[in-house]
Amino acid sequence: GFKMGIVGLPNVGKSTLFNALTRTAAAQAANFPFCTIEPNVGEVAVPDARLDTLAEIAGSKQIIPTRMTFVDIAGLVKGASKGEGLGNQFLANIRETDAIAHVLRCFEDGDVTHVEGRVDPVADAEVIETELMLADMESIEKRLVNIVRKVRGGDKEAVQQERLLKTAMAALEEGKPARTVEVDDDDKKSWKMLQLLTSKPILYVCNVDEASSASGNAFSEKVAVMAAEQGAASVVISAQIEEEISQLDAEEAEMFLTEMGLEEAGLDRLIRAGYELLHLETYFTVGPKEARAWTIKQGTMAPQAAGVIHGDFEKGFIRAETIAYDDFVTLGGEQPAKEAGKMRAEGKGYTVKDGDVLHFLFNN
Ligand code: GDP
Repeated sequence: GFKMGIVGLPNVGKSTLFNALTRTAAAQAANFPFCTIEPNVGEVAVPDARLDTLAEIAGSKQIIPTRMTFVDIAGLVKGASKGEGLGNQFLANIRETDAIAHVLRCFEDGDVTHVEGRVDPVADAEVIETELMLADMESIEKRLVNIVRKVRGGDKEAVQQERLLKTAMAALEEGKPARTVEVDDDDKKSWKMLQLLTSKPILYVCNVDEASSASGNAFSEKVAVMAAEQGAASVVISAQIEEEISQLDAEEAEMFLTEMGLEEAGLDRLIRAGYELLHLETYFTVGPKEARAWTIKQGTMAPQAAGVIHGDFEKGFIRAETIAYDDFVTLGGEQPAKEAGKMRAEGKGYTVKDGDVLHFLFNN
């Protein structure tokens, strides 16, 4: 599955957001830095109205959305790369994620302490980014030393790694995060394996006051400008409102959203933004028993898409009976789509498309 790390300075609303996301009280929100000491992990259903439509058409008994993992990574403060705060452990936790949701405090509240004593989300973002850059530089230095012998021995992989590490270091020394480095296709895999903290795609989450939840505020506008400059994404959310919404049933939540002038819950937007950030897509399997959504990377071939369900599906892959979402819905289900000639038999070379309704045939 795909994993998003929630980072940010203490008291910006990470735990509140995490609670809302996972609808649990497991991650304690308290007005105290370092209140979330353990990295909290939660799975979130990815909202997708198409799945409900498919299930209704097919009369599926069960609906199983695809999921995304969020990890609440607390304790990142100025000096974290030097082991201050809860330093190194957190950096290790970030390393394991696919992308970073960076929560920025965009609300004023005299009762909630700001670690830096002022509300300035752009400066906060720089504090965290600087720590991550310093941590990357430190780990690159170590790795360059460790790799010397292999490079001298002519190990091709090591030579490539050294070259990439040096490229990353050059960018970092100029004050640029590793994600700004353009990498050749041939190097992409090795680049990713370096697992540099600042190479992860970033989504800025502007945690605004309740009154600004629909339109954002002056703080979140500054963040949007910064994000645009960096080619990063940003979303506006009120973590507190989201936490309230997460405790309501669907109907109440709908009414609450309307009252607040919100079209959809911020969390749905957040999860979708994460999906876009990670270049993820969804395909469906639909039958009378269940309608289910599955997550793949854009550009995934049919056998690997099958492998998301089960390794055996990939190994013994024969073909994928494929109906495009629109055809399935317009024609009214699998049988009518088949009769209309809209069910395609796709082989190993087929690139799965977002929304495809698939049925895999495979050898055991
Ligand atoms: P974390 O340290 O980043 O995990 O921050 P928390 O989620 O624990 O929040 C710290 C404090 O700020 C708590 O008292 C929250 O209730 C409060 N808080 C979180 N989001 C908001 C918000 O949008 N507005 C206001 N006024 N307070 C918030």
